[in-house]
Amino acid sequence: MARRPLIAGNWKMNGLKADGVALAEAVARKVKAGPAPADVLICPPATLVDRVAQTVAGSGVAVGGQDCHAVQSGAHTGDVAAAMLKDLGASHVILGHSERRTNHGETNATVRAKAEAAHAAGLVVVVCLGETEAERDAGRTISVVESQFKESLPSGTNADNTVIAYEPVWAIGTGRTPTNAEVAEVHAALRASAAKVLGAAVADRLRILYGGSMKPSNARELLAIKDVDGGLIGGASLKVDDFWAIVEASR
Ligand code: PEP
Repeated sequence: MARRPLIAGNWKMNGLKADGVALAEAVARKVKAGPAPADVLICPPATLVDRVAQTVAGSGVAVGGQDCHAVQSGAHTGDVAAAMLKDLGASHVILGHSERRTNHGETNATVRAKAEAAHAAGLVVVVCLGETEAERDAGRTISVVESQFKESLPSGTNADNTVIAYEPVWAIGTGRTPTNAEVAEVHAALRASAAKVLGAAVADRLRILYGGSMKPSNARELLAIKDVDGGLIGGASLKVDDFWAIVEASR
């Protein structure tokens, strides 16, 4: 079946009020001038979710957080609950990004618990997974992403409340990307895992994004690969022209 592409920007820990709002306004203007060939999601830092959501309201641009806690409230200093993101106008949340897995010790079980909380709050989760360079070199890519897929998704996962982002850790922010054949192999394996774990009908509708050094010059090629249903974009999402060129490349 034809899955509508999703192009998602992960701003990471970048942006103060003025530049965050300006970037969000610029993306919203592009979408309004549309029609955009893809669904468009921007994920600012938690501090900007409120303002960015207000800025893009009514434009068709969706807003997401970059992480949430596994419980909805309580003694968790510095954390943000899924319901809080939802309350600010977010519809999505990125979970299990490799920077969280590496820098904050998040495991598949952590990601699964967070996804459960996000689903309960009514958020769509963008669950990131991908192999390290050492795992790829050891020939373990497929087994690693298959177990991340199986172990990171809670029961109740479906194609409406979940998006998968395959992000090879070694490709994030490095300018390096896997070959088209390597991307195709992983996406096909993830589609097969989805069919096994979630059933064929869900697998057929589930969006599986590619992320890792996607930019205007390689986006068209990456987005044309079978089973690639869009992109999760880091660095190139911080410049509206680059981000928009990637949205256009999904046409
Ligand atoms: C990311 O952090 O999700 C990402 C894909 O980053 P970049 O596009 O900068 O590689």
